[in-house]
Amino acid sequence: MITFDEATKKPLPTPDTDSAAFWSGLKEGKLLLQHCLDCGNVQYYQQGMCRRCGGERLEHRAASGRGKVHSYSVVYRAPGPAFKRDVPYAVLLVELEEGPRMISSLVGAKPESVTFDMPVQLVCEKASEEITLPRFRPA
Ligand SMILES: [Zn+2]
Repeated sequence: MITFDEATKKPLPTPDTDSAAFWSGLKEGKLLLQHCLDCGNVQYYQQGMCRRCGGERLEHRAASGRGKVHSYSVVYRAPGPAFKRDVPYAVLLVELEEGPRMISSLVGAKPESVTFDMPVQLVCEKASEEITLPRFRPA
């Protein structure tokens, strides 16, 4: 059984070997993407190999932080007690300038103001000592 405290606390990611660099990058305000040195593929979320060519020569480079809203959804009903104070909020599928798409959420504007292709800018939001979350605001 989970306690009231646990139920009202937002779940946070736990960095593993593949994602450790990604999370420490965010702590420094950088969104790190993996660039494949063999085929040039750029991938968001970290893996031991390139998802396009299987190559293992991957390099972390900081993203520009610029992107646009590829798709979005406004959440009116909290998925759990921890999110009750946040509704309504907008969940975004952001297409980064570098190509990869990532799921995030909107900050700094009303969720109803989101539109398709809206330019957005990365905001690094500290959630705990260990975890800083990537969010986006209108650019
Ligand atoms: Zn590759």
